[in-house]
Amino acid sequence: MPRQFFVGGNFKMNGTIDSIKSIVQHLNDAKVSPDTEVVIAPPALYLLLTREHLRKGIEVAAQNLFDQPNGAFTGEISAAQLKDSGITWALVGHSERRTLLLESDEFVAKKTKSALDGGIGAILCCGETLEQREGNKTMEVVIRQLAAVSSTVKDWSKIVVAYEPVWAIGTGKVASTEQAQEVHKGIREWIGKELGSEAAEKTRIIYGGSVSEKNCKELAKAGDIDGFLVGGASLKPAFVDIINAKA
Ligand code: PGA
Repeated sequence: MPRQFFVGGNFKMNGTIDSIKSIVQHLNDAKVSPDTEVVIAPPALYLLLTREHLRKGIEVAAQNLFDQPNGAFTGEISAAQLKDSGITWALVGHSERRTLLLESDEFVAKKTKSALDGGIGAILCCGETLEQREGNKTMEVVIRQLAAVSSTVKDWSKIVVAYEPVWAIGTGKVASTEQAQEVHKGIREWIGKELGSEAAEKTRIIYGGSVSEKNCKELAKAGDIDGFLVGGASLKPAFVDIINAKA
């Protein structure tokens, strides 16, 4: 069975009630390939609004969650609460949170486990900085980030791995197809060694970092690129072209 193409839209801290409603309306009306799994991640405040207006068949993701099921954790949201609200995915380990909010590999791993334990999927982000790439540390960094998760989570059937080189995020400097494919292949080989050949075969590894309607078709041709995590372009009508990159 081929891996189903997966496209996520990460709105980050953008949008208003009106603008998110209009993005949702555009997606509801668009011709979206039935072969692509589509998930959009608005800011937490707009998750319910998005779920309420979005048509069935497109899922909604939180941009973050906490690693505990409930309790005295001011400002946080649990997997159980997301699930209760019809939110079926969460992003974990995005580089903006790793950098700005100092999230460690271990904390990201705990959050991944709590998402899965709470019955929602995890879009697990990893990726190297420019300095790390130039120091030939790309695979070392990516595998360190993923290994923190595999040390506690052995079933990766509800994990989508998003490879997002930090130097490509929001910069307009997309990784070349060869650069991305090389890392994706390395990640798949590592999953094979760590979790077995079935997990390697089935796990979707998507690319993120300046994906646009212009570069998506070329990237989608690579054998180990199973979709995209899209930031800036997910706020625009051209997001639909990215969803249909493989169609
Ligand atoms: P970008 O962001 O598409 O705006 O580069 C990608 C991401 O951060 O997920």
